[in-house]
Amino acid sequence: ILNVNHLQKSYSSGNKTLKVLQDISFGVEENTTFSIVGPSGSGKTTLLGLCAGLDSPDSGSIELCGYILSTLDEDERALLRNQKVGFVFQDFQLLPTLTALENVAVPLELQGERNALNLSKDLLEKVGLTNRINHYPSQLSGGEQQRVALARAFSTKPKILFADEPTGNLDSETSENIEKLLFALNKDFGTTLIIVTHDIELAQKTDYILELKGGKMLTTQNPIADA
Ligand code: ATP
Repeated sequence: ILNVNHLQKSYSSGNKTLKVLQDISFGVEENTTFSIVGPSGSGKTTLLGLCAGLDSPDSGSIELCGYILSTLDEDERALLRNQKVGFVFQDFQLLPTLTALENVAVPLELQGERNALNLSKDLLEKVGLTNRINHYPSQLSGGEQQRVALARAFSTKPKILFADEPTGNLDSETSENIEKLLFALNKDFGTTLIIVTHDIELAQKTDYILELKGGKMLTTQNPIADA
């Protein structure tokens, strides 16, 4: 479902160039769970953004859900994300002016789903927030906000879900609950899951681990890597 080949990415500021990713190649099969680990600044978030078509590499190619991202324009990539990709972030990224229910409904409404609010209610029930549907993000705990974000991410039944440090802002007990929920929903919806984390214990719960250091691939346990 995702194939990354010989990816390079640099950032320039002034006359300095920082090579953030160097010759990254790997593949992720459908219905598997995959984590990207590495120290702070090793390029994990950059790699996730490239894989999701949010940014473009300097060279190399990415195939996502059967599409070579470089052959799509911005609108086509946005459409691909809207139809096939879900996202979860460390800082939840809920819209502050919308209730939990309205937040979950956003991607469904973007897809033109007329029954968005009812479907969203069911999803919030699934994540255990039936009694919080009309709360605003500021009225919810971190763990509750991430539950809303999970309900939103899975609402459109994405083929692939990118989670960037999904438990990074939560205490250990809440993290554990969110992890369990994430894996349970993932199994339920038959989604392919890609998690960026520096939590090795979380990474070890996924089928494959890609380790980055200084923008280079150190190891991967993925047998189809470098295809
Ligand atoms: P963390 O675990 O701290 O989130 P990370 O492994 O996700 O780190 P990235 O966020 O991908 O790392 O950043 C990799 C490097 O690229 C860092 O040195 C960062 O400062 C730099 N960087 C990231 N985005 C940009 C940008 N838009 N412009 C310039 N430099 C950037």
